[in-house]
Amino acid sequence: MFHEYKDVVGNGDQAVVFFTPECMYPITVAAGEIFNNRFGSFRHDNMIGLKYGSKIVAHDGRGFAYLLHPTPALWTQIVPHRTQILYLPDISFISLYLDLRPGKVVIESGTGSGSFSHSIARTIAPSGHLYTFEYHELRAQTAQKEFVDHKLASVVTIEHRDVLAGGFGKSDIADAVFLDLPAPWDAVSAAKEALRKDAIGRICTFSPCIEQVQRTVVALDEHGFSDIRMFECLAKDHEIREVPLPDIAEAIGGRKANFRGTKHERKRRRHDTGTSTPDESDRPSVDAVVSKPLDEARGHTSYLTFAILAADSRT
Ligand code: SAM
Repeated sequence: MFHEYKDVVGNGDQAVVFFTPECMYPITVAAGEIFNNRFGSFRHDNMIGLKYGSKIVAHDGRGFAYLLHPTPALWTQIVPHRTQILYLPDISFISLYLDLRPGKVVIESGTGSGSFSHSIARTIAPSGHLYTFEYHELRAQTAQKEFVDHKLASVVTIEHRDVLAGGFGKSDIADAVFLDLPAPWDAVSAAKEALRKDAIGRICTFSPCIEQVQRTVVALDEHGFSDIRMFECLAKDHEIREVPLPDIAEAIGGRKANFRGTKHERKRRRHDTGTSTPDESDRPSVDAVVSKPLDEARGHTSYLTFAILAADSRT
């Protein structure tokens, strides 16, 4: 479900009930069930047969929502947090730099809440495979259930295992390794063992402190990794606005630029003055859509340390 798409909602399918970007709920559509929240009650029977993206209205007439197809990006926004999780800016960056694409074999630890696991699975499906390792037993069981419910079991294998104590139990199979755990430097040797010997292997570690990065870099260097680079992903929001452009003819004529207001402002002006016909200021619009970066970049999550292992560095 999370790595393939279908048009129509069926009995037993996953869906995301979207009210606002801050208010979304994952559900499994089941005949006879009712989804209740403060916006009203929604019969699952009314959802079956609808196209994903359809508007659904509460049967007690109070509210409405949209029924969305589940995706890893939506899941990251609604996953029940058992741990800190990776968010989309880091997920996108790591996926790109680890060269993840269909057919790749990836090793991840720890699984945590499975936020990144869902994106990895979608990116490498259907022919690739993710082996993900988590030493907290309940977290491993919960993630396993979600992978099955989300029909990702053919792409993801989760193992309850302490990778710092026992490695990954894998040799010469992975194209990429991703480590989000407290002491990644202690897993570098196991990562090297797991990476394919006949191709370039890629590793990324995710650590909040620069001291952790330093220890990881030393371990990577000692184990023959090269091209070691560190990045920090800071998301910066942009405000998108429609702004009126000055009238070119008047600007060339040396007169004060005539800011006519946005389309909405001109309509409002006509309404306020009771004019129904367009006036001079209603000539075809030359409004421009501009994007202005907001001052603040959203805060530090972690440092991303990348390295590669050349095919011949293990012979
Ligand atoms: N990247 C995950 C996500 O996006 O949901 C979050 C990972 S969470 C921050 C770190 C996880 O690593 C925790 O669940 C923890 O139990 C697990 N962990 C820590 N040490 C471990 C070890 N030695 N072996 C396996 N898992 C470990």
